[in-house]
Amino acid sequence: MAIDVVLLGTGNPLPDSNRAGAATLVRAGGRTMLVDAGRAVCMRLAAAGVIPLMLDDVLLTHLHSDHICDLNDVITTHWVMGPMPKSLRVFGPPRTQDVVAGLRAMLQPDIEYRIAHHADLTWEPQLDVREIAPGLVFDESGVRVIAARTDHRPVEPTVGYRVECDGKAVVLAGDTVPCDGLDELCRGADIYVQTVLRVDLVGAAPVQRFRDTIDYHSTVAQAAQTAKRGGVRTLVLTHQIPTPFAGTADEWVALARAHFDGEIVFGEDLVSVAV
Ligand SMILES: [Zn+2]
Ligand SMILES: [Zn+2]
Repeated sequence: MAIDVVLLGTGNPLPDSNRAGAATLVRAGGRTMLVDAGRAVCMRLAAAGVIPLMLDDVLLTHLHSDHICDLNDVITTHWVMGPMPKSLRVFGPPRTQDVVAGLRAMLQPDIEYRIAHHADLTWEPQLDVREIAPGLVFDESGVRVIAARTDHRPVEPTVGYRVECDGKAVVLAGDTVPCDGLDELCRGADIYVQTVLRVDLVGAAPVQRFRDTIDYHSTVAQAAQTAKRGGVRTLVLTHQIPTPFAGTADEWVALARAHFDGEIVFGEDLVSVAV
């Protein structure tokens, strides 16, 4: 197995008791990576057998609250559980520095309390924040991570990631409509994880603020068409909008099946796929 993917949170911004917020665990070549850090990410990491201290890299697709709202918990637990200083790398689009600096400022009293209380804890959280541009993010220990610009306007810039290891490739697209950058990432990928929206349901909602979400997310059909264009092997539907009712997974899969012949995985929290 070259790359292991666990959907930690498949929820959308509306709180749901069965779905944590947007977050995906990716393990490859001995690296443990977290893509986005939404609501309850540390609880789901624990369920997947991962403590935050084990994380090497956090890759943020964009700075919408539902994708970053528990990053502070990741930072705190990664730091306070460590027997020695360990750097946490946080990659993200421009303005990630500002957002992490704001979280760091919010945590200042807590950091002071814990350092004052634990004689052996003498260091502050070691954060290595890197704002990225499209292209190679890093190539280390047999793992290559590539970013491409996606289209989630007016949220911009946004990025999707492609993780490669041992000749396999997994794409973590984040929130985006179909675009050239996404097609580039998906070309020949084994697994493509896409946040999706059902336009038949959202379009019929009586609330304009909810219908507003249609224009900057991939519909299920569009995700399937992107998967087909890229010749990907497995399409994973996550961050479903609206939150699916129990027993409707088949409907979502059927909407994708009309456009894509490969394997289709309906995402629920802690579902895993590997290649
Ligand atoms: Zn978003
Ligand atoms: Zn989102």
